[in-house]
Amino acid sequence: MIKKLLLSLVILISLLGCNKEEVYDSDVYYEIFVASFNDSDNDGIGDLKGVTLKLPYLKSLGIGGIWLMPIMKSETYHKYDVDNYYLIDSDYGTMDDFKELVDKANELNIDIIIDLPLNHTSDSHEWFISAKENKLNDTCNPDNKCDYYNFSDTKESGYEPLGDKYYYEARFWSGMPDLNLDSENVRNEIKDIVEFWMDTGIKGFRLDAVLYYYQNNVSKNNEFVSWLMEIVRNKREDAFVVGEVWSSENIILDSYGSGIDSLFDFTMSGQDGFIAKAIRSENGQFLASKMIEYNDLIKEGSVNSIFLSNHDQSRSAGYFIDEDKQKLAASVYLLSIGIPFVYYGEEIGMRGSGKDENKRLAMLWGEGSDTCSPIDSDYTSQVDTSVKEQLKDENSLLNHYKKVIKLRNKYIYGKDYSEFIVDNEKIFSINYEGNVVLINMSEDIIEIDIKGKLLDQVDVIDKSVLKDKLAIGGYGVVILEVE
Ligand code: CA
Repeated sequence: MIKKLLLSLVILISLLGCNKEEVYDSDVYYEIFVASFNDSDNDGIGDLKGVTLKLPYLKSLGIGGIWLMPIMKSETYHKYDVDNYYLIDSDYGTMDDFKELVDKANELNIDIIIDLPLNHTSDSHEWFISAKENKLNDTCNPDNKCDYYNFSDTKESGYEPLGDKYYYEARFWSGMPDLNLDSENVRNEIKDIVEFWMDTGIKGFRLDAVLYYYQNNVSKNNEFVSWLMEIVRNKREDAFVVGEVWSSENIILDSYGSGIDSLFDFTMSGQDGFIAKAIRSENGQFLASKMIEYNDLIKEGSVNSIFLSNHDQSRSAGYFIDEDKQKLAASVYLLSIGIPFVYYGEEIGMRGSGKDENKRLAMLWGEGSDTCSPIDSDYTSQVDTSVKEQLKDENSLLNHYKKVIKLRNKYIYGKDYSEFIVDNEKIFSINYEGNVVLINMSEDIIEIDIKGKLLDQVDVIDKSVLKDKLAIGGYGVVILEVE
């Protein structure tokens, strides 16, 4: 009896312990390459069921959304050239698997957005097969898809030969013919596709290659995207659409003219982006001003999407190298203005550069399912320690991600930003309605004269302390409440 009582007591205490774990809303997104994430049936390819199985992991990381790289039927490993917009690629599972993932994610308050490549299809899409055949036989009519693509009688830049007489537009490669987005038939198809996917319960889309819809013509691109946004919004008022306009700052800012919710901030990302530069120069003040200046220019009603790296870029752990610097980089983008996107594996310091395949390697769970990935890569030294190992180490990069995301969710989520300058250029600081984020970009303790209440902190090298002055430890993060 006493044993039973003791056992109940232990259970009660552990339950109370669980309850102490506060849960917050989050605007942090997590980008997943399904093939390399988690393999549920051990066929060597990650799948949608595998993602569903990892929802508790993602929830514990503190994220509020998932961007799935393309999941529609395709013959390539990356699936950016779609064969059929209505089918889940059989490598990844079935439509039921997808609906289960969306439902379970939504139950956990995690939104799903899916990649939508509309600039081009695969050359094995039935639209192109029909268009090509009729073009070659000179049997084109309004009903046999010839108007779905762009054909020419003369060789133009970005066009590939079709038989002896014709050419078709294919900007990326011959296997990806560009869609004719001016065709009313194509627009009707896209409307049906968008509505079909919105009906599955997703939050929205990540639009691929927006810059190339109309080859670098921003005003025509904006017209198309704003047409698309209206369709999405009619299905769901609080939908979220983020676009890839991989270009200069001005072109990205101009592309907000479409009324899209968000665009990826390529100026901050990558080895030569502002975040990496600021980390090398230890200049947090410049970085914060740059971010504020940029965000002030974004159209009212839209929001920036910020990231360190994505599936097309060298993984950041490869150039930050030192784990403390990786932690610093994580603190900076996760506590920034806008919506942070974590690329899968970034939270455990996975590495990969060079050819695309190297940047999309299997997630290292440390559970025996790590070989999942259809990718032929010669790149092996991708990460030192797995999720399993890092979860056990309080000071791991993974636990740093969890701590910083929690700070974001608790003190920043839903708040507006303003400038907050500290008299030390090594401090990155932004004021979120009285909750000030302060990050020490150097490895030395920095003392600043400041009044406020220390709300929270994440230490990296030394412990931050507030006495007469605020001493922020090397690479440390402090949340200070100011009047
Ligand atoms: Ca599988």
